[in-house]
Amino acid sequence: MTVVLETRGLQRRFGAFLATNDVSLTVEQGARHALIGPNGAGKTTLINLLTGVLQPSAGQVILQGEDITRMPSHQRVKKGLTRTFQINQLFADYTPLETVTLAMLERDGLGSNLWSPVAGQADLIDEAAALLSRFGLSPVMQERTDRLPYGKQRLLEIALAFASKPRVLLLDEPAAGVPEDERHEVLSIVSDLPAEVTVVLIEHDMDLVFSFASRISVLVAGAIYAEGTVAEIAADRGVKAVYLGESA
Ligand code: ADP
Ligand code: MG
Repeated sequence: MTVVLETRGLQRRFGAFLATNDVSLTVEQGARHALIGPNGAGKTTLINLLTGVLQPSAGQVILQGEDITRMPSHQRVKKGLTRTFQINQLFADYTPLETVTLAMLERDGLGSNLWSPVAGQADLIDEAAALLSRFGLSPVMQERTDRLPYGKQRLLEIALAFASKPRVLLLDEPAAGVPEDERHEVLSIVSDLPAEVTVVLIEHDMDLVFSFASRISVLVAGAIYAEGTVAEIAADRGVKAVYLGESA
């Protein structure tokens, strides 16, 4: 098995508070790796350390054997480490087809003006349409983004991240706030992405996690509490206790 992403002894302090406590995480190439844990466990902080939004107080982040601990976020994206970003106001009155085509123009260094024709633009529009189809967005690709159901907006965000041709896609609760009946679709589309794309996913809904993940790491109070296959984590009494404790 090839390791694509790794942390070694990662730590992050906020003042005296240790939000990330000696995290050594190994993500295998092609994994559907879920990161779970109670609220405040340090999941988002860990993603921020991986993407370079935050700098660690100690430890290393290694992408495909390269130490990227001090590398700025935008360079990590170029290396294939991508996270979703929330669609901002800029895209509200654009259609998914326009939004993804713009992202591809940017990606290819062709500028970001949809209305000034460039060579190869028709090809990009075809590529954008094909990508949207993979994400189940073909039926709505000509509609305004802000009128789409919430689940479709989330899928568009993931499609945008996917347009950058990531090796590792980091998703922080992509189904949060998505109505129950749309959530499963979001995660099954992500799960079905090409095997060469590794996915690290934070998700709270354990049913979704268990149907999605090939591997699960459990964070508690900033530290890795348990790690294993779905079957191992599902059978782990300690993990169950952590979650029961939280809901109690
Ligand atoms: P999770 O995503 O697992 O819910 P977070 O990573 O968001 O948890 O937060 C972990 C802990 O770190 C929380 O106690 C949170 O209050 C704290 N924390 C996160 N970011 C900051 C920050 N910028 N400054 C101070 N404390 C922070
Ligand atoms: Mg979080």
